[in-house]
Amino acid sequence: MRLVLVPTPIGNLEDITLRALRVLKEAEVVACEDTRRTGLLLRHFGIPTPTLRLDQHTLDRAQELLAPYTYVAYATDAGTPGISDPGAELVRLALEWGWRVEALPGPTALIPALVASGLPTHRFTFEGFLPKAGKARKERLLALAREGRTAVLYESPHRLAKTLRDLVEVYGPEHPVAVARELSKVHEEIFRGTLVEALERFQEPKGEFVLVLGPKTPSSPSGEAWAGVLRAEGLRGRELFRALLERGVPRNEAYRLSMEEAEEDA
Ligand code: SAM
Repeated sequence: MRLVLVPTPIGNLEDITLRALRVLKEAEVVACEDTRRTGLLLRHFGIPTPTLRLDQHTLDRAQELLAPYTYVAYATDAGTPGISDPGAELVRLALEWGWRVEALPGPTALIPALVASGLPTHRFTFEGFLPKAGKARKERLLALAREGRTAVLYESPHRLAKTLRDLVEVYGPEHPVAVARELSKVHEEIFRGTLVEALERFQEPKGEFVLVLGPKTPSSPSGEAWAGVLRAEGLRGRELFRALLERGVPRNEAYRLSMEEAEEDA
């Protein structure tokens, strides 16, 4: 039993690899998120292999659906299966069933965005999509800033402005960012600047986006930004002081910020 993860182009059909084409031809079936989309790709390359829908809604029946096959190729809508898509869960299941799992190298949105960003690449963290709202989102943003490494995020066009605004709060307005839009497509654009400039530039964004944030160095902690976020969470006085220290804000600044709040409240 063999499952091969096949990366597919994120915008330019020339990015399919020769090996990917061979595997798509040889496999008994191409399981995929969207049979229409993957069907178009297969037709374009003259590959007659049948397709089978396997997305987040059908994964719970994956074992039954794949039972008739011994050699399955898996493709998601675009890019490398397993990166912010149902591929990761399928791999987990296939390993549980004792299948041999292979992954082909190939297109993905995160690497071109990272390497073209001009930001440090020797240490980076991939965040994918942030939680949509609430405490989980805030905590993740704060943790990300604490990492001290370049961070790569995926975002949908209708949430991009909100995410940039939230990032301004945590990283500060002048923090360096690259916004990669429509990578490998006709309208590819890589914006490099500060968070507040990105916010101005992408008021009504269209297309697909990857955000790359420069590392937040411990020597430049934005105490004000942290205090704003923590106050919004309801922290005051000693609690605020302690939370600021935990986030790397220098002791004297943390003290000043927690006292400011106390004076305002008085
Ligand atoms: N598995 C894919 C990969 O390897 O990159 C990612 C799948 S995830 C569901 C889709 C997200 O990837 C989009 O919302 C966007 O953030 C990013 N993305 C995919 N294609 C892109 C492109 N051509 N340009 C910019 N971002 C892209």
